[in-house]
Amino acid sequence: MPDAPTPEFRLYNTMTRQVEPFAPTDGRMVRMYTCGPTVYNPAHLGNFRTFLFEDLFRRALRLQGWSVHQVMNLTDVDDKIIKRALERGLTIQALTDPVVETFHADRAYLRIEDAEDYPRATAYIPEMIALVERLIANGVAYLADDGSVYFAIDKFDGYGRLSRLDRREVRSGARVAQDEYSKENAQDFALWKAAKEEDERTGAAWDSPWGRGRPGWHLECSAMAMALLGETLDVHCGGIDLVFPHHEDEIAQSEGATGREFSRFWCHGAFLLTDGQKMAKRLGNVSNVQGLRDEGVTGAAYRHVVFSTHYRKELNLSADALEASLSAVRRVGEFAQRLAAATGGTPELAAAADEAEREFRAALADDLNAPEAMAALFVFIKRANAELDRHGSDAAGLAAARRTFALMDGVLDLVPEAAPEDAELARWVEERLAARRDARARRDFAASDAIRDELAARGVEIKDTPQGTTWQRR
Ligand code: AMP
Ligand code: ZN
Repeated sequence: MPDAPTPEFRLYNTMTRQVEPFAPTDGRMVRMYTCGPTVYNPAHLGNFRTFLFEDLFRRALRLQGWSVHQVMNLTDVDDKIIKRALERGLTIQALTDPVVETFHADRAYLRIEDAEDYPRATAYIPEMIALVERLIANGVAYLADDGSVYFAIDKFDGYGRLSRLDRREVRSGARVAQDEYSKENAQDFALWKAAKEEDERTGAAWDSPWGRGRPGWHLECSAMAMALLGETLDVHCGGIDLVFPHHEDEIAQSEGATGREFSRFWCHGAFLLTDGQKMAKRLGNVSNVQGLRDEGVTGAAYRHVVFSTHYRKELNLSADALEASLSAVRRVGEFAQRLAAATGGTPELAAAADEAEREFRAALADDLNAPEAMAALFVFIKRANAELDRHGSDAAGLAAARRTFALMDGVLDLVPEAAPEDAELARWVEERLAARRDARARRDFAASDAIRDELAARGVEIKDTPQGTTWQRR
């Protein structure tokens, strides 16, 4: 069967505030930079909402026929990391190494594919220094009397373009040294910070032309993005909170050095909320991937929760949503098993597969509409189950269904891990169903009913159809 036609890929661009056609510059490989975690604490479920949207994005790009070079940085030096290291009497490296490990383990649990590169900021200090030198040479950065180097925002015309800053809010000449600062004011921001005693004590200081110091947070992303992906990216992603100041400052630093557009598209995911509150690490009520593991929430179920809401809409995480997603992915898992075990299909199954693939591709190409893509999957499962109930013998129909399901699950990745007890349960159910068939053949309906009750007691529901008895877990 021919592939469904590939629809035009469209994406919302924060720079223009519009949905626009998107394709990689070279027509083949998407160069994608995604701001990664600050590794002082395990990432929380809000961070992972953003990383999951980026995972869906890269898989959707590949479905579209492109390859992807994704870079995700690991911020392993910043104000928060130094403060925490100091409290614990550690170097920043001793503090961040285990957190990086946890990040990758958590990511694997959520089936977030490997990016092509995970650069650590501390491994790119020479590139950062070179970038600051370029900015000074271009007259958009200056060494201040506190020994730090600042970016002069009034020397760079495009400042505020991404976040649509009103020029009146720009406080020309006022300086800010913190990595994160108030959204109300735009001020000259630190590119390179003169080392303080605590930086030296935690191993967070390096030699530079301006003396001992360390990079500002924004600088690292510009330096690593350009080192690994070139001066103009196809797309730069992150959570919506990064638009200002982080991405605004990345643009200033990169374009102030190269004179070229830094990224063709800017793509931002909305926040995950719990009870209407921003799930920030400092609120202390955070739930992370360890919490999911402890509660028995599979990675597949959390993916389902996240993909149920469009990435540009806020998502409220609730226990009810997690429950609903757990049972939704169980349905997907049961369907996967049934499809694998089936021996034939129907021509209608092929038609259902075709339609599902078309809808699925169209949904993802329409600004990554994951809820609609999932709807296409679940409609397909329903229709395919009905067709499989007919126990047809059409091999092409079955092959089409398998191919389409693999294609959709290759993007969504929603089949839950089969627990060992599932296989054991399946064997026991099959044995009980055989016993029930024998009982019914002898017209011993009391025994047959007793077996139905026995199955129900273990959460197994059965249905008698003209083709035989089917079962599922409640
Ligand atoms: P951080 O570790 O704070 O630098 O954040 C890593 C990524 O998670 C960034 O892209 C943030 O924008 C994103 N992020 C932080 N909090 C949330 C949240 N509550 N919901 C969604 N994304 C978030
Ligand atoms: Zn960044």
